[in-house]
Amino acid sequence: MFEGPSGSGKHRVAVRLAMAANCTSPPPRRPCGTCPTCLQHLAGSHPDLIELSPDPELQSGLISISQVRELTASLQYHRYNARHRFVIIDPADRLADPAANALLKTLEEPRAGTHLILITAARSALLPTLISRCQRVRFGAVPADEIEPWLVDAGHIDLAGAAARLSFGAPGVALALASGGIKNRTKLKERLVAVAEGPLDGVFEYSAALTKGGRTDWKDKVDLMLDVVEDLLRDAAHVGGRPPGAPLALLYPDDEAVARRWAGRMWPGGVARSAESVAITRERLRSYTNGRLAVDTVLTRLWTELGLGPGARRLVRGA
Ligand SMILES: [Zn+2]
Repeated sequence: MFEGPSGSGKHRVAVRLAMAANCTSPPPRRPCGTCPTCLQHLAGSHPDLIELSPDPELQSGLISISQVRELTASLQYHRYNARHRFVIIDPADRLADPAANALLKTLEEPRAGTHLILITAARSALLPTLISRCQRVRFGAVPADEIEPWLVDAGHIDLAGAAARLSFGAPGVALALASGGIKNRTKLKERLVAVAEGPLDGVFEYSAALTKGGRTDWKDKVDLMLDVVEDLLRDAAHVGGRPPGAPLALLYPDDEAVARRWAGRMWPGGVARSAESVAITRERLRSYTNGRLAVDTVLTRLWTELGLGPGARRLVRGA
């Protein structure tokens, strides 16, 4: 089981492991990345590299028991042509409980030459019976001052510092941020601050616009929005928890004024309650399909705690 923050490259390492085991070039060049076997692994088209992830057709966002049954049935057959067959289950915390149970026997006694790699950023969401059958490999967070020069080397000079700070130790996330993700995030952050500090109607309008369409349309956008809310709360908590005049290390240094305003309005209780609401919303969204209701709840909480919108003070007092 590979565990560590999302974006820490666990999936890439799993694929390289499969490549190294099956590469047809002579050692020590394995994996060579250029032989037909390596190329098929990289393209995700090698028949002995099986990847299991949530069925996008399913609203639940879970890996279903029928997917696992299909997998275990296919593992009864002999390998296609590789020395080793790998199964990558990513993210393993999306296995529905019956699906996880159906996998236990295979995990305990895989066929010779068959290896299962479970990938997760949320180990606590897995069944203990599943965890106990796995050997754990942990991917730690990389310090921001190591990620930053790495991004600079990769050519992302302007955004390296901000991307390293906002990635929380996940190089893959940092790279995505530096390659443009940070601009989306900045735009979203500005909108979010305006909404949270504006009238309540605006909160509901924003929530409806954000969750338009089906789950696959809005899930990533909502996840990003929750990330940004958490960043802003973290900055507010940082300001709130420091003595006046102490140097600050903000995720959004350009928005120190926002952090100060939010800290003044809701540190410490309101920040804690808002952060808790974000955590609950994330948990709900793992299976919950009414995105709008979930987003309404978390943003109304934030708006109420900020108490900046007309009528908000009254709601806080009444709550
Ligand atoms: Zn190769």
